[in-house]
Amino acid sequence: MREQTWALIAAGGRGLRAGGEEPKQFWSLGGKPILVWATEAFERCPEIDGVVLVAPGDLVLRTEKIVQDAGLRKVHRVVVGGQTRAESVKNGLDALPGSCTLVVVHDAARPFVQPASITRVIQAAARMGAALLASPVTDTLKRVGPEGQVLATVPREGLFGAQTPQAFRRVLLARAFAQAGEAGFEATDEASLLEGLGQPVAIVAGDRRNLKLTEPEDRELAAALAAGWAAAPEAVLNPGFEIDGLRVGQGFDVHRLDPGRPLVLGGVTFENHPGLLGHSDADVLTHAAADAVLGALGAGDLGEHFPDTDPKYAGVCSLDLLATVGRLVVEQGARLLQLDVTLLAQSPKLAPKRAAIRRNLAQALCVTEDRVSIKASTTEGLGFVGRQEGLAALATALVVRATGTGRA
Ligand code: MG
Repeated sequence: MREQTWALIAAGGRGLRAGGEEPKQFWSLGGKPILVWATEAFERCPEIDGVVLVAPGDLVLRTEKIVQDAGLRKVHRVVVGGQTRAESVKNGLDALPGSCTLVVVHDAARPFVQPASITRVIQAAARMGAALLASPVTDTLKRVGPEGQVLATVPREGLFGAQTPQAFRRVLLARAFAQAGEAGFEATDEASLLEGLGQPVAIVAGDRRNLKLTEPEDRELAAALAAGWAAAPEAVLNPGFEIDGLRVGQGFDVHRLDPGRPLVLGGVTFENHPGLLGHSDADVLTHAAADAVLGALGAGDLGEHFPDTDPKYAGVCSLDLLATVGRLVVEQGARLLQLDVTLLAQSPKLAPKRAAIRRNLAQALCVTEDRVSIKASTTEGLGFVGRQEGLAALATALVVRATGTGRA
């Protein structure tokens, strides 16, 4: 069974070292607060079921407003942080739902974390119990005395800089906090608490773009990275996703009109229009989309995955089926780059609900809306669509597979 995985995003600090009038996680970067950058990566990570944000006590209301304005739908709660980072994380841990089995902790001051990195850390923690993103130390290290003189050169072999995300089996992290007691609140990362218990912790190789905003000059670095980010394709940002891993799939579906049922297209109900006949909600648009994605994966078709002979799928919301297909993309080490859907219908008019349909499909597939396109065409009164006997939909999906999965 799939793990229930939640993220705790620690935005409870005051960021004294970084200067500025407000905590660094609230600074604006490319038009949005730093903490939104960080949280959006978790929104787009298909393994994440929900997010708890931890904010300074006096900034909880402001954080809730930021969450709402940014449309961060996975954020379920904003809780009050503690005196230290670890205490804040402990508060967040206490606010997680009982069903959560894996926890991912992330610093809100690391805005450039990538969804693919979050996925890799989660997968490692599911295997090992605990894992963190870290990058090899590249500078030569000097131990320096109180007068500022070099005492020694420290061999850097085997040394990594710990980053977040860090992911844990929830029971292990809770036990680590319980055993560490008050002393645990001084820990600068959660992995060290687990190490204290003798629990193996896996390293997942990250890179230095996962910058933590700490010093005042980091703001300039972040602005430069943010500018490049906007222009770079995801395949470039996620090492391991390469152009020879591109795969395309098509989908096509038809359903007969049935005046006795509600019409559902892309998860949106169209009032006062005949619906479609089918075992599920007969959402022809979503079916074509799901078949296109399955096609790009070479993973069969919708009927094979969700047989219409299975009573379990009677009346099922097709967006849920699409979300399952979206998770399959990730399980196969791939990412959806683009989905383009065309509805063939004499009526209804799609335009008033196009934005809602686009949002539904993007959310089900855990991608940003710019990766989904929804169009419609009549057939000029010709054929079964023109005679209003049924509706049809066509879709094309482009996915990129990770290299080294043995599937590219
Ligand atoms: Mg169908």
